Amino acid sequence: MAIQILPARLANQIAAGEVVERPASVVKELIENSLDAGATRIDVDIEKGGAKLIRIRDNGSGIGKDELALALSRHATSKVSTLEDLERIMSLGFRGEALASISSVARLTLTAKTAEQSEAWQAMAQGRDMEVKLMPASHPQGTTLEVSDLFFNTPARRKFMRTEKTEFGHIDEVVRRIALSRFDVDLTLRHNGKQIRQYRAARLPSQQDKRVAAVSGPAFINTALKLDCEHHGFRLWGWLAPPSAARTQADIQYTYVNGRMMRDKLLNHAVRQAYGARLPTDSHGAFVLYLELDATEVDVNVHPAKHEVRFHQSRLVHDFIYQVLVQALEQAPLVLSETAPF
Ligand code: ADP
Ligand code: MG
Repeated sequence: MAIQILPARLANQIAAGEVVERPASVVKELIENSLDAGATRIDVDIEKGGAKLIRIRDNGSGIGKDELALALSRHATSKVSTLEDLERIMSLGFRGEALASISSVARLTLTAKTAEQSEAWQAMAQGRDMEVKLMPASHPQGTTLEVSDLFFNTPARRKFMRTEKTEFGHIDEVVRRIALSRFDVDLTLRHNGKQIRQYRAARLPSQQDKRVAAVSGPAFINTALKLDCEHHGFRLWGWLAPPSAARTQADIQYTYVNGRMMRDKLLNHAVRQAYGARLPTDSHGAFVLYLELDATEVDVNVHPAKHEVRFHQSRLVHDFIYQVLVQALEQAPLVLSETAPF
């Protein structure tokens, strides 16, 4: 075959393979966009595990009429314009790929209103060349993204979708992770018209405890050690279960770097090492941990789904986490007493 430039839609579908694994990855990308737009309230509506419909509504900045079509095109982003921006990125998104990728494998409707506009506008992406149709709509300030019939035109991917229950479980998990990453945002999750979760904005520490309890269950928060430690520009805070409250499953393990949820090897390693021999065999630690450090200390542009980061001073970061956790664990009671100590 002769060399040729891929048609836009096909190029986007290929890129979609990296960001859009399943309905939950769409939910993650869209909620992150809402957060980047400064939303304080995000409502997630799911039908049939996300295969039929994913609708995310926010009260963020909205998108101007003139930018609706642009938002849907590849490499279109309002978040970075220079290499320096990329090196000190604070927003969750920056690749300008999510909406283009999603609209290439689903039917996408974007409705938005900015503070400056008197009316809302709606854009629909469809057709082979991703032609965008615009029409007036009714919507308060903010944005609603509707993604329907995910993978309708990529049968191979559609086949990889699991049962409605499994896919919704993954979405639920994404929403939990985000609920723990932004205590200041109201989040609701509905499935097939039924409200499943409601995480209310929590500003006071006691409200934060409640939110953690809502996500991970009261057993975790009641026994967890609360920690907050700062050293040489690194800060680690959050909750850590003492070994006496170890779990049979690795189901409560949340780590964040500068507000971004992570499944990072270095972080996990430091945590595992800190628990070390303290954990009974076949049991797992439980933790909700936030690492904060200067944005120039981390490279988030390592993986399209941004699950991993690269630390410039990885040894230092690892040792810092390890030491803070060991210190906390050393103060933990070794055996859980039957009666409360006070
Ligand atoms: P990225 O988030 O990497 O910039 P996306 O494809 O996810 O790329 O989004 C493209 C652009 O569309 C964003 O940069 C932003 O300007 C705009 N956008 C997307 N979702 C929203 C939203 N919920 N509210 C406001 N603007 C949005
Ligand atoms: Mg994005």
